[in-house]
Amino acid sequence: MSESDNSPMCWWCGASANSQAHSVKRSRIKQIMNSSKEDSGEFLQICRDRELRVIRGPKSKAVKFERSMCANCNNARSQSFDQSYSDFLNYVLAKTWKFEEEPVIRWDEIYIGKDSDQRHLARYLINNFSCRAVEMGIVIPDDWISFMNFSDDGTGFDLIRF
Ligand SMILES: [Zn+2]
Repeated sequence: MSESDNSPMCWWCGASANSQAHSVKRSRIKQIMNSSKEDSGEFLQICRDRELRVIRGPKSKAVKFERSMCANCNNARSQSFDQSYSDFLNYVLAKTWKFEEEPVIRWDEIYIGKDSDQRHLARYLINNFSCRAVEMGIVIPDDWISFMNFSDDGTGFDLIRF
């Protein structure tokens, strides 16, 4: 929080937090909604704050964090991280059947010839975790921000997602 006006600040860069990041990628919500159009009566829900909330569309408040980022960080600065997550998700969705036989992720199959890699995916996840952490009143560790800023100093954390 800013000392002067109590308005929230972007956890990443410190500018005024005037933007709400998506907790679930907007493109993924669109993808799911488009694929289930024929399923009358079905709708998406998400559990937040121990409550089931209906997702009425990609801009639904149910899939947005509180304002904790500036528009620049939420859009331009994190764009390559978002793309990395989309690349990863598309790979997983396309290969789902194969994971039962071979539970291995081939990073080269996902990111070869692309501008991003699994470090960008890690930054997407750190971004998402950070927005969630801010809502819980947790101060974002400097290590996370350094990693988001492509610091070469290494990190003091490990990222495990399952
Ligand atoms: Zn920012």
